[in-house]
Amino acid sequence: AQTLTEFDTIAAISTPIGEGGISIVRMSGEEAVQIANRVFKGKDLEKVPSHTIHYGYIVDPANDSMIDEAMVTVLRAPKTFTREDIVEINCHGGIVVTNHILQLLLANGARMADPGEFTKRAFVNGRIDLTQAESVMDIVRAKTDKARQVAVGQLVGGLHSKINELRQNLLDTLANVEVNIDYPEYDADQVTAKQMRAASETIIAKIDKLLQSAQEGTILRNGLATAIVGQPNVGKSSLLNYLTQSDKAIVTDVAGTTRDTLEEYVSVRGVPLKLIDTAGIHDTDDKVEKIGVARSQKALEQADLVLLLIDASQELNDEDRALLELTANKKRIIVLNKSDLGQKVTPEEMKAISGSEVVATSILKEDNLSSLEDLIKQLFFSGIENSQDQILVTNQRQVGLLNKAKQQLKDVIQAVDDEVPVDIAQIDLTGAWETLGEITGDSAPDELINALFSQFCLGK
Ligand code: GDP
Ligand code: ZN
Repeated sequence: AQTLTEFDTIAAISTPIGEGGISIVRMSGEEAVQIANRVFKGKDLEKVPSHTIHYGYIVDPANDSMIDEAMVTVLRAPKTFTREDIVEINCHGGIVVTNHILQLLLANGARMADPGEFTKRAFVNGRIDLTQAESVMDIVRAKTDKARQVAVGQLVGGLHSKINELRQNLLDTLANVEVNIDYPEYDADQVTAKQMRAASETIIAKIDKLLQSAQEGTILRNGLATAIVGQPNVGKSSLLNYLTQSDKAIVTDVAGTTRDTLEEYVSVRGVPLKLIDTAGIHDTDDKVEKIGVARSQKALEQADLVLLLIDASQELNDEDRALLELTANKKRIIVLNKSDLGQKVTPEEMKAISGSEVVATSILKEDNLSSLEDLIKQLFFSGIENSQDQILVTNQRQVGLLNKAKQQLKDVIQAVDDEVPVDIAQIDLTGAWETLGEITGDSAPDELINALFSQFCLGK
């Protein structure tokens, strides 16, 4: 079995394989700079300052043949993602060149990274805890680097410090138990039992709050399922195109996605939207008989968020009304599109009719689309911002452990109420402390950690 402290130099392609504009081959480890230097023609990378980028050529030292033009970034420990020396080679996209460079690094002293190994090193080297590592994987697995930064930014340390706080409470209580046992002149057992019961109740309440955030966390991880609906010609495809234009589109490399079921993700102000039935949107354009409402109905069932487009330049028609009714119980934003052609329906009127958030746009002229994006962000984060806690719990592993700890604490309460001897209740209290530690990785066994990281994408 693999131990957690191997620090040889690892390499992997860290951009999705395909025909992107550029690809990045990344190395991490003690020899990263040396190895890069062996295959780089340009400045002496061992002499350049940290966190600098250098133009040059990747050359095979075995036969001096040139492989690609490249920009090489040198990042010295400890201010790096893994806390080790990191070198990133930005080369031209394309699988052949990228692979060639990776092979060259392997031939010159690097080892092929395991899936998730970069992130694992960040964890092992104490840069991030398990929950942060998971946020790297869970939330952003399938999305752009930009989205990754947003997500990681949101999650940096949040759950970790919360869990540590709970564990500290438990530890204090456990320490008190010891003290009370050492001073039998008090009515030690009773005092101790009371303290354990009170602490358990407090912590259960805090755990419940964390569990409440899990739903939002799940959305952040899986994307907010979003349906774009509206009558034919109202601008659905135009909106879709706008949202999926280069810098917003999120390329998915989730294992098992096939072309047929390819989901389109976009990142709107850091909120990942999973666009539902985008094929349907495209399809209806080509058909004579449009099946707007029927098709929408299906998409709507799965939607967490509905973007309902209405032609502002026309009077409301029956189809608009049908869609307004159909989406009445959904979290929705009403987009009064084609406002550049006049406003037969004003935002104020629509707000009064619908009771929903309304925004007047011209998708054609890209007018007021930033208001739409703001609204999406607000809607998503509303209810979260009020409760001081941001989205903290993001996956089923964390939810499972929180529930387990909660049960252990309930058992403590039960034991106290049943007047079971204190040291029995103490076992469950200690158990809860350990369970919470598994969430952050403080008390997680190596096998678990290895298993977790092996689910990561290659190159992460
Ligand atoms: P869909 O059938 O709902 O997908 O509508 P499309 O996106 O295909 O748009 C139908 C037509 O309306 C196209 O010619 C668009 O260029 C045009 N269109 C979309 N949005 C606007 C807008 O805000 N203003 C104007 N004037 N035209 C628009
Ligand atoms: Zn369309």
